[in-house]
Amino acid sequence: MNEEKFTRETVLSVRRWSENLFSFTLTRPAHFRFSAGQFARIGIEVDGEKIFRAYSVVSSPFAEELEFFSIVVPDGAFTSRLQHLKAGDSLLLEKIPYGFLTLARYQKPLPHDLWLLATGTGLAPFLSMLQDFAPWQQYQHIILAYSVRTRDELAYVKDIESIAQSFGEGGARFKFLPIITRADSPASDHVLDQYVLHQRLPILIENGLLEQQAGLALNPATSHVMLCGNPQMVDDTRNALKARGLSMNRRGEGNIAVENYW
Ligand SMILES: Cc1cc2nc3c(=O)[nH]c(=O)nc-3n(C[C@H](O)[C@H](O)[C@H](O)COP(=O)(O)OP(=O)(O)OC[C@H]3O[C@@H](n4cnc5c(N)ncnc54)[C@H](O)[C@@H]3O)c2cc1C
Repeated sequence: MNEEKFTRETVLSVRRWSENLFSFTLTRPAHFRFSAGQFARIGIEVDGEKIFRAYSVVSSPFAEELEFFSIVVPDGAFTSRLQHLKAGDSLLLEKIPYGFLTLARYQKPLPHDLWLLATGTGLAPFLSMLQDFAPWQQYQHIILAYSVRTRDELAYVKDIESIAQSFGEGGARFKFLPIITRADSPASDHVLDQYVLHQRLPILIENGLLEQQAGLALNPATSHVMLCGNPQMVDDTRNALKARGLSMNRRGEGNIAVENYW
């Protein structure tokens, strides 16, 4: 890759959530402007070779630093090395951001209800959106459903709570729906004040529980639905939404926008 395509940035902090999940912040070069929901391409150098991977930006478009949320894939070419990151290390950052999982893509229906449905690190672009002003100005209701396998994988819960307080009028317009899919969690379970669901997202749409907990109906005339993360979840959830009359967003029109992480 041409040297001019990226800059070298410094790692400012690392936050570990669990054995296989961590977040880190990087210095943000002045030229790196992005819309909430976009991703960066981050690189490391291994034996003189550069390896780049896509990473959704977690931080708000107004933040001074760039934050990212990462999985550790034990034998992954990138993350098996990235997991040892510490403050003061340097990483490569491509100069331009990428991606179309942004609110600007929606023209019709007009913004009314925003559903953000994530698995695992697919939460990242939604955290950026929720810390931007646009969704709070444009939407009446915002629902964030965040599905993980085990309780210790449920990262950013306190941050989501504080976003709800600062932007979401203490929860009047915002609903957080955590989902833990492994059966070892108790049936009646809470994270902070939130009731925890236990089925996979497509099932929760089919059986109506997601809407029941959200206190809102999925509606082709009013819903914008964004899906991010595991491609199997994205596929199955998209099909469940289509069965409810929602359509893929193309050229600005339609309800569903997706991003697959692999
Ligand atoms: C648009 C886009 C945005 C992305 N944003 C993020 C992000 O914000 N955070 C992040 O951790 N990853 C993100 N990814 C995935 C990321 O680019 C890498 O795949 C990941 O860092 C693993 O790299 P690797 O070389 O270690 O393993 P890879 O060889 O890239 O992946 C090996 C396998 O690991 C699994 N895997 C890869 N990524 C994930 C993941 N995120 N969660 C669970 N399993 C995974 C898949 O089974 C995959 O086949 C994104 C991918 C895309 C396309």
